Amino acid sequence: MLELRHISTFYGNIQALFEVSLTVNQGEIVTLIGANGAGKTTTLMSISGIIPPRRGEILFKGQPLHRMTPDTIVKQGICQVPEGRHIFPELTVAENLAMGAFLRQDKRAIKKDRDYLYSLFPILEQRRHLPGGNLSGGEQQMLAIARALMARPQLLLLDEPSMGLAPLVTKQIFEIIKKINQEHNTTILLVEQNAHLALRVATRGYVLENGVIVMHGGAEALLGNTAIQKAYLGI
Ligand code: ATP
Repeated sequence: MLELRHISTFYGNIQALFEVSLTVNQGEIVTLIGANGAGKTTTLMSISGIIPPRRGEILFKGQPLHRMTPDTIVKQGICQVPEGRHIFPELTVAENLAMGAFLRQDKRAIKKDRDYLYSLFPILEQRRHLPGGNLSGGEQQMLAIARALMARPQLLLLDEPSMGLAPLVTKQIFEIIKKINQEHNTTILLVEQNAHLALRVATRGYVLENGVIVMHGGAEALLGNTAIQKAYLGI
């Protein structure tokens, strides 16, 4: 579904990604793990066209994304849930969800999707008339994911969904991520610092260090790899 071919991305003169290549097949959850500053967010920003790569290619279902603008990339069926959530704090939960569907015209299907998301996140239904800014961190993360799903993406890019959340809330979010993949048939590229959690929901994983992919493989194999255990799993 998605293929990055040797992409190199820069901030001015600073090179953040060095010939990064990765693939995501339809129906998979693929995780990209790595330490602070490894280039995980930059990889997602390159895919969504916010910081396009200077070299290399990005293909989505065979179409070159690396020449498209971010809004065109969203229209192809790719949605990013950014690190730190970035919901609209003054808009209500219901309005935030409506914003996620602003490119769609199919009112009936929009309502159906909203009802499905309320069943997936009952707390959001309870809080639907409250401003997004009044929600807890975990609820805001749920809202950010639900808002992205209102666009009916084929590929969801999730940036550090566990960031700043209590372990129990994180567990809940990861269960929902799995459900979205299985029930909603959404392919997911998941960026995480919490390698343990990420490799438990993913089918495959890539390890990024200083802008370079240093390892990739099946999630089980990476979980059992001694170098990964030492560097990322605290074992
Ligand atoms: P984190 O987990 O902290 O978000 P990350 O793996 O997502 O880390 P990136 O945010 O992609 O890493 O950063 C990769 C590199 O690019 C880092 O060296 C970072 O300092 C640099 N970088 C990121 N954003 C900018 C920017 N706006 N200007 C210059 N350099 C940047």
